[in-house]
Amino acid sequence: MIGAMSTPTTPREESLGSYEMLWDCPHCDTKKNLGVTHRHCPNCGAPQDASKRYFPSDADKVAVANHQFTGADRVCSSCSTAQSAKAKNCGKCGAPLDGMKAVPLILQHKAAPAAKGRPWGWYILAFVLLMSVAIWWRCIRKKNIELDVKGHRWATVITVEEYREVGQSGWRNEVPSDARAITCSQQKRSTKSVPDGESCTMVKRDKGDGTFEEVNQCTPKTREEPVYDDHCDFRVDRWTAVDELKQAGTGLDVKWAAAPPQPAQTVIGARRAGARDATYTLDFSDGKKTRTCNVSEGTWRKYKDGQHVKAKARASSGELVCSSL
Ligand SMILES: [Zn+2]
Ligand SMILES: [Zn+2]
Repeated sequence: MIGAMSTPTTPREESLGSYEMLWDCPHCDTKKNLGVTHRHCPNCGAPQDASKRYFPSDADKVAVANHQFTGADRVCSSCSTAQSAKAKNCGKCGAPLDGMKAVPLILQHKAAPAAKGRPWGWYILAFVLLMSVAIWWRCIRKKNIELDVKGHRWATVITVEEYREVGQSGWRNEVPSDARAITCSQQKRSTKSVPDGESCTMVKRDKGDGTFEEVNQCTPKTREEPVYDDHCDFRVDRWTAVDELKQAGTGLDVKWAAAPPQPAQTVIGARRAGARDATYTLDFSDGKKTRTCNVSEGTWRKYKDGQHVKAKARASSGELVCSSL
C-alpha cells in the first residue's frame, strides 16, 4: 500500500453531458445554427465552416441525446467543408477523405489571466540591490585603525543550585516519572490535514464533431483540524538555580568565588555549584576615546597592557570589530 496516499496528479473528471456547438452562417447571417443537426445552413444551404463553431451560452445549450462520438470531423481538401469522421468520401463533392486533417478544436475562453509581465518586479529587484549596497555601506564596510591596549578586565560567575520542589508543565508524555500533584487539561497540541471534499471547475471541451462535452474537473481538498492532548502541571524535586557568586577585577589574575562543596546527599535544601562562566574584556584607546571588546581568554592573554594594535573598525560608525583582534 506504499504510495496509496500520494496526491493524484490529474484531477478526477466527471462528464456533465454533451451539447451542440453553434455556428453563424456567413452568407445569410442566420445565427445559432446547430453543429451536428445543421451541417448546412437551414436558411440558405451554405455548408458549415467548422472553424467558426462556438460554445453556446447556458440559455442556448441544446443537448445531444444518444450521439455516438466517432472522432473529430475532417476537412475536405477539395471543397473545404467539414465531414463526419466516419464518412469515407466528401458528402458535398465526393472526394476521398483518407488522410484529411481534423477540424481545429475551439478552445473555451478562460477568465482573463493576470496582467502579463511584472514591471514592478524590476522595482523590487532594484530596491533589493539598493538595500544590499546600503547594508554593505553601513554595516559591512571596514577600515584599518590603530589602538593602544589600556587594560584587562575580567568577571566570573558561579551559579549556585539548590535541590528543591518546583512547579513545571508539559504534555502528558513529557511528565517525568517522579512528578506529583499532576493536574491536566485538554489543549490544542498540533493540527492535522483531513479530507474535506473536492474543489471542482467545469470546463467545456470541443469534440470536433459539432458537439462539446461539459466536464467537471475535481481535485481533493483538505482542511486543518486541531489535535488535542493532555497538558499537565506537576511538581517535582529538581536542582534549581537560586544564587550567583560573582567576582570581578582588573589585571590578568582571574579569581573565582568560593563555591559550595558537593553535597553528600541529594536531599531537599542541599546546595551545589552549578555552571561557571567568565567574561574577558580588553580596553583600548585610539587617542580620543575608549573602545571595549569582550574576547576569548586566549585573545585576552595575547595582548599586553600598552601594546600597539592594528585592527578593523566599521567604516560608517568607527565601531571596533572585535573579531579582527
Ligand atoms: Zn445561410
Ligand atoms: Zn468536398
